[in-house]
Amino acid sequence: MKWINLYVNSVCNLTCKYCYYQNKPGKPYIEYQLDYLFDLIMSEREKIIICFTGGEPTLSPKLLETLIDRLQDRCFFVLQTNGTLLHTLPIELIQSFHHIRISIDGNREYMEQVRGIGTFDKLMENVIKIKHKCDIPLLARMTLSQPGGFLDGIRTIIASKLFAHVYWQLDNDLGGKLPEKFYDSYSLELPAVLDMWIQSLNEGQFINAIPFLGVYSLLKTEFIRKNETWYYHCGPGRTMIAIDTKGIIYSCPEGVSRSGKDGNPSDVIGHISDGKFVVSPHQAKKICLKCSIRHLCGGRCIWTYHPMYCHSTRLLVNLVRSHFEKLDSLIPRNTLKESLNAVNWTEVIP
Ligand code: SF4
Ligand code: SF4
Repeated sequence: MKWINLYVNSVCNLTCKYCYYQNKPGKPYIEYQLDYLFDLIMSEREKIIICFTGGEPTLSPKLLETLIDRLQDRCFFVLQTNGTLLHTLPIELIQSFHHIRISIDGNREYMEQVRGIGTFDKLMENVIKIKHKCDIPLLARMTLSQPGGFLDGIRTIIASKLFAHVYWQLDNDLGGKLPEKFYDSYSLELPAVLDMWIQSLNEGQFINAIPFLGVYSLLKTEFIRKNETWYYHCGPGRTMIAIDTKGIIYSCPEGVSRSGKDGNPSDVIGHISDGKFVVSPHQAKKICLKCSIRHLCGGRCIWTYHPMYCHSTRLLVNLVRSHFEKLDSLIPRNTLKESLNAVNWTEVIP
C-alpha cells in the first residue's frame, strides 16, 4: 500500500452540486481510536502518503496536527481541500504538507455555478496568501460536471502561475446524466486545451497538465505495457485504500460515499480495528479486455463504464499521440521525474 485517503471528518462548509455529502448529516471528527490507525501504519514497511480528506479537512485543524505529529516519521501528508478555509490554518501546519490538492473546477463563473457565490475569489485569495508565505506545490483539481468552462478554467489556472500541477476529472456520474451534451463540449475543448498547454510550453512556462503528461509517459513505455497484466492506474485496494471516519476500510474513496450514508458495502475490505485489510485487486471489465487502448487507459474506474468516458479517453490518447514528437521536444527534462511522480498522485485518465 502506498496511499491512504483518510477521512478526518464528514462535514463541509460548502454545498457543491455534485458532492455525495450534500445535505447529509456529518461529524467533525474521527469516531474510532486513533491507535488503530497508528498501528496499521506502523505495520507497513514503506513510507505511506496520507491524503487528508473529508468533508472538508480544514475544519479539523487540531486533528490534522495530532496526526502529523504522531506519524511524521512514517508518512508524507497531502491535503485535499476546497481552499476556502485555508487562511484559518497555521503556516507551520501548511508547511507540513507534501503538496495541497485544491478543488478548482474552472473560472469564477463556472465555480460559482457549481460551488456557490464567492468560492472562487476566496480560494484564489487564500492561494495567493499561501504562495507569499511558502513554496508548497499546489495541484489544481478540476471536476468537470457541466458542459463548457473547461478551456477557460485551464486558461485561468495557467495564467495565475500559482499551481505546479493541474488534473481534471470527468464527473463519475455524468455517464448517466448528460453524456452527449457534455461529450460534445469536452471534445471541442480538449484539443484547444492541448494547444494552450503547448503554447505555454513554447513560452517557457511549465505547468504539469497531468492527463497530457500521464498519457505521454504511458506512450513512451507502450511496448512494455501491452504485455502487462491488468491494473487500474489509481490502484484501488492494491496501492490505494480509503478509511472513513468510522474506521471502515474501502478499496476506493468513492466506496465511502457512493451509496447511503455508510458507504458502499461491496467495496469494504476491512475495518481499522482488525489491523489489516484484504488486498483487493479489481478485475478488468469484460469490455476492457477487448479494447485496443486498454494498456493505456487501464479501465479508467472500477465503478463506472459508459461509452462517453471511452470516447473521451480515445480522444485524449489520439491527441497526445499525434503531438508526441512536439511534446517530446518541449517537456522540460529537469523537472520530468518530479512531474511524473505527480501523475501517480491522480487517476491519470480523466
Ligand atoms: S477505453 Fe473504455 S473499454 Fe477501453 S480500457 Fe478504457 S474503459 Fe475499458
Ligand atoms: S478512478 Fe474510480 S476506482 Fe479509481 S480512485 Fe477514482 S473512483 Fe476510485
